[in-house]
Amino acid sequence: MTTKSLPHLTPTGTCWCGCAKKVGTGSFFAPGHDKVAEAALLAVEYGSSVAQLLHGHGYGPGHSVSARAVSEGVWRKCSACDYVGAPASIAHHTKKVHSTTAAERARGAAE
Ligand SMILES: [Zn+2]
Ligand SMILES: [Zn+2]
Repeated sequence: MTTKSLPHLTPTGTCWCGCAKKVGTGSFFAPGHDKVAEAALLAVEYGSSVAQLLHGHGYGPGHSVSARAVSEGVWRKCSACDYVGAPASIAHHTKKVHSTTAAERARGAAE
C-alpha cells in the first residue's frame, strides 16, 4: 500500500474556515475553527454522517479505516491489546491502561 500524497498547503494569514479572520503566521485556522470547518464539510458532503463519510471513501464494517491507518504507518497498534491510534494516543493509552503498577511503583518510590 502507498501513502496518499497530499498537496503541500501554505497558510495564507486568514482562517481557512472562510470566516476571513486574520490568523498568525503558520496557522491555517483561528482557534477551534478547524473543528467548525470539519463539521461543516461533514454536513455539506455527508449529511453529518461519519458512516456516509467512511462509505464515501470505501471504508466500512468490512474494510477498517483504523486498520488502514496502522498499515499506512500513520497510526500504531498497542503492543499489549487491540487499541489503535496516533503515536501520541498510543503513548497516552499505554501509560493510562498498561502501566498502573509501574506508575504506582514510581509514586511509592517518590514518597
Ligand atoms: Zn474561521
Ligand atoms: Zn493497550
